[in-house]
Parts: sequence; structure tokens; C-alpha cells
Amino acid sequence: TSAGGAEDPRGGSDPDAKLRPQRMAEMVGQQDVIERLRIAIDAAQVRGEPLGHILFDGPPGLGKTTFATVIPTEMNTTVQMANGAGLKAPRDLLPYLTNVSKGSVLFIDEIHRVPRAIEEYLYTAMEDFRIDIVLGEGVNARTLNLSLEPFTLIGATTRAGMLTAPLRDRFQIREHLGWYTRKELGEIVQRNSKKLNIEVDPDSAGVIADRSRSTPRLANNRLLWVRDYAQSKANGNVDAKICGDALDMIGIDGLGLDKQDRNYLDTLIRVFLGGPAGLDAIAHTMNVSSDTLEDEVEPFLLRSELLVRTRRGRLATPKAFEHMNREMPDRPL
Ligand code: ADP
Repeated sequence: TSAGGAEDPRGGSDPDAKLRPQRMAEMVGQQDVIERLRIAIDAAQVRGEPLGHILFDGPPGLGKTTFATVIPTEMNTTVQMANGAGLKAPRDLLPYLTNVSKGSVLFIDEIHRVPRAIEEYLYTAMEDFRIDIVLGEGVNARTLNLSLEPFTLIGATTRAGMLTAPLRDRFQIREHLGWYTRKELGEIVQRNSKKLNIEVDPDSAGVIADRSRSTPRLANNRLLWVRDYAQSKANGNVDAKICGDALDMIGIDGLGLDKQDRNYLDTLIRVFLGGPAGLDAIAHTMNVSSDTLEDEVEPFLLRSELLVRTRRGRLATPKAFEHMNREMPDRPL
């Protein structure tokens, strides 16, 4: 989920990494989360203990990886980055655990994807800073007890519900990251435009913010495209119209919908007269998988009140008809 995130947190070829805040003070929004983390960090430092394990959950692109990189900086310690999808067998976890130094951070992105067999090792690692590994098989099997330096595990997940209770309960700090306001996104755009050496006035930042689905990663991506567009078409000058034109050109409309989102609404309205229609029927007509629609398309349409899910199927709202410039048919209630 953190494409362009976990692998390359501190720079390199990923343009978004250049825009990632380096310190907590550079982060915009999430004020209550930041306040609680500051208290926990201060207290841990005063006591000379590692920070308690932290779990971040929330949709992609809202700052989970960013927190996992700024927290170690605030603590003056190092971080190792791992991904739950890459941990297939217990031995995959060992290099990370044996590499932790006192008070350092191990970040596991997509921690809901860690297989159960590995999860058990995390329990003792988190609780007692110890792992018991079984070497060999059958009668020759030996258990090796390995003690670890006290460390902080930071887990990130887009699906908190998929975490088992024993794992979830071992995180002392659990924070949910929510959507960003238009104002916060505008501020992120303006700050990052300075890093990119382009001038973006508040109106232009507002246009980008409006089309970024309350998500900093998307705001950054949109800004990078606007910069390219402005450099190629307008001598590098950015204004609100140029932002709108640039984003129109890649199919992102005034509400932040992309082509696939509009295709979904168009299918629902044109073919199914606004619904209610079953997800599978819509997916077949669009020739995409229903999983893709359910995971990647519908959440934003639901959140934008363009779509409702009823017991009889998906239904386009009056706002959807208006947005797509279509007349609402007379529907029996
Ligand atoms: P996640 O791990 O939740 O998918 P990331 O932490 O990778 O999301 O965030 C994506 C990008 O959005 C980051 O590279 C960063 O530039 C930007 N970003 C995220 N949160 C903030 C924030 N609070 N303030 C400023 N920029 C942010």
C-alpha cells in the first residue's frame, strides 16, 4: 500500500521521498496524534527506555510510513524497514530482530500480511525482547533462546480489522490516521512547492487540494504533475487554471475522481439507470474484477456520497447524477 514509501524512505530516485517530512514538526495535520506521540517520546527518553510499540492504521498515503521515519529521528535512533508481505518464514524475521540495537525502531509495513507462524515470534519479541527458535527436526530438534536488545516495533496497516487480537494488544500505542482537510492539504502543497522550487499561490494549492481525495500522497503526486505540465506548457508558471487544465488532462476531475471512478458511475447510471445493481454485474459490464471495484473505486465514491450500498445493490445518488450531468430517472420509492 505504501508504494514509493517503505522501500526508499529517505531519498533516492523516488520523487515523493524528497517531499516526505524529515521531522515531526514538518508534518501537517494529525495534531492530536502528534501530541500524544510527543508525550510518549518525551517520557521514554526521560526514563531511558525504548518507546512502547506503536500501531498505525488508516488508508494508504496518509502518513503511516512518514511517522515511522520521523519517530526514530526524534528519538535519535535508527530504523529498519520491513514489509509484512516479504516475511514468509520465521527465518525472514531473524535478520531484522538480530540487528535491532537498544532503543532502535523496527518498522513493519502492511503488518496484517505477516503470516500466523511468524506472528508468534513477534509476540515474545515484543513482550520479552526474546525469541525461541527451533533448529533441526524431530528428535534432534533444539530450541535456541535468543535475547534481543529492547526495541520499538512500529506496525502499519490499512486493515486494522485483519490483525489478530493478541498482536493488536501488544501495541501500547495505537493511532488511527484520518483524512486531511482541504486546508491541511493546501498547506502541504504550498510547503512542497517550495521544496520543488515552484511558486504555487493559495488558489492553485486549493485546486490541487480539492482533487486529492483528502490524501497527502495524492496531493504530492498531483503537484509533481502540475509542475511538469507548467514547465512544459507555461514556462513554469502555475495558477489555478493551469492546475485545473493539468489535472483535467490526466482525467482527474474537480471532485478528485479519476477515469475509472467516472467509468463506474457512468456504467451504473447509463446501463443500470442508477441502480440498484449488483457489484458483480457492474464489474462484468466494466470488464474489471469486483475486488478492484470494491477496494479501489467504491470507497471514495461512498465517502463522496456519490454512491450508496443498499441491500438490493449499488445505487447512484442524486449528487452522482448531477456530477455526471445526467437526468435522474423517476424511481418508484
Ligand atoms: P502511508 O505509509 O500511510 O501509505 P506515507 O507516509 O508514505 O503514507 O505518506 C505518503 C506521502 O504523503 C509522504 O511521502 C509524504 O510526503 C506525504 N505526507 C504524509 N503525511 C504527511 C503529513 N502529515 N504532512 C506532510 N506530508 C505528509
